Amino acid sequence: MREELWAQFANDDLTVCGDGQCDSPGFSAKNLCYYVMEMITGYVIEIEVLDKRHVGLKSSTMEKKALNHCLQRLQRVLNVIEVCTDASSSIKKLIADEFKTLFHSLDVWHKAKSIRKSIQKVVASTKGNDKVGKWSNQIINHFWHCCSIASEHEDTTEALAAMKDKWLSLLHHACNEHEWTTGRCNHEEMEPNEEHPPWFDRREQDYEALQKVVLEPSLLDSFKYYVKFRHTGSLECLNSMSLAYAAKRTSYKYRFYKARKQLAAIDWNYHLDRKVAVGSKGGEARYSRKYNQRTKEWNTRIIKVDKDYDYIPIIMAKVFRRRMEDVLHTDRHVSLSENDPERIASTIAHTAPVSSKELFERHQTRFETKK
Ligand SMILES: [Zn+2]
Repeated sequence: MREELWAQFANDDLTVCGDGQCDSPGFSAKNLCYYVMEMITGYVIEIEVLDKRHVGLKSSTMEKKALNHCLQRLQRVLNVIEVCTDASSSIKKLIADEFKTLFHSLDVWHKAKSIRKSIQKVVASTKGNDKVGKWSNQIINHFWHCCSIASEHEDTTEALAAMKDKWLSLLHHACNEHEWTTGRCNHEEMEPNEEHPPWFDRREQDYEALQKVVLEPSLLDSFKYYVKFRHTGSLECLNSMSLAYAAKRTSYKYRFYKARKQLAAIDWNYHLDRKVAVGSKGGEARYSRKYNQRTKEWNTRIIKVDKDYDYIPIIMAKVFRRRMEDVLHTDRHVSLSENDPERIASTIAHTAPVSSKELFERHQTRFETKK
């Protein structure tokens, strides 16, 4: 299936996005699944599943290794030109060091979230900075707008300059100044609006707080990752859907975990282009609604037709055929696959396993001495 998909993209310059999901949080994770998705179509085109034994029991390095494997395999067959990932520093380093020809983008939505956090931090740090807090939504929207403007430029240097320029214009706009010597805002004439937060005054302390947010050096440095205006929302949907195949609360052996995550990817790819559901009388598309507690707004979502899982009989037929054509007995010895972590160690413990009986006896002796 993967090879058929690859063949479809054989002549394209590809932008892919990737994200890893662990079976339990961070350092205690045993398995990690990394999906790589083609950004335009949303097809999953590569998967890597790792066990902590593959990385010398250092769970935190699994994501980096998984992405490294995926990109190496993809680059052998396809022309990947850009990759969008999460913003961890080890991933940034990996792309910069090992995949120099790739353009590295980061997810805009996550950045918007982190800008909101930094605004809250500035507001909390000094009394009298409340006005910056009231501008949170405007600042975040402005960031999205800047990324969108940058993405209109083919040339990345031009894109970056346009993005920075637009971003800094916020310092004028927030003071109710929409035209200045080096530029102007591109919004329509501003109508009086009671809900609009109060304008800033350059002589006041809260303007300094706004400058602190807008001119934050690490933020300006990070702009280069956002000029393509990439968002990896689909990957997050896939990750959350895949939990139906491999729940976080259950511990799976590597090969079963891998098979479950592969099935999730097949489900995703197969159902990617589902049609929009229409009402029982036909015609109108169906929507559902959800209340967002943070923005205090109702959001709508288009409902799609139910999944039909028509590929399952095909997979079953393939399994039966393999069995029919297999001339050996079912009770023969089957070797573990080359990359099964049980070839490295039988358990994920840092020390060699002790028999349960021995453990019990040790415990008994300790108990005896205490008495
Ligand atoms: Zn303006």
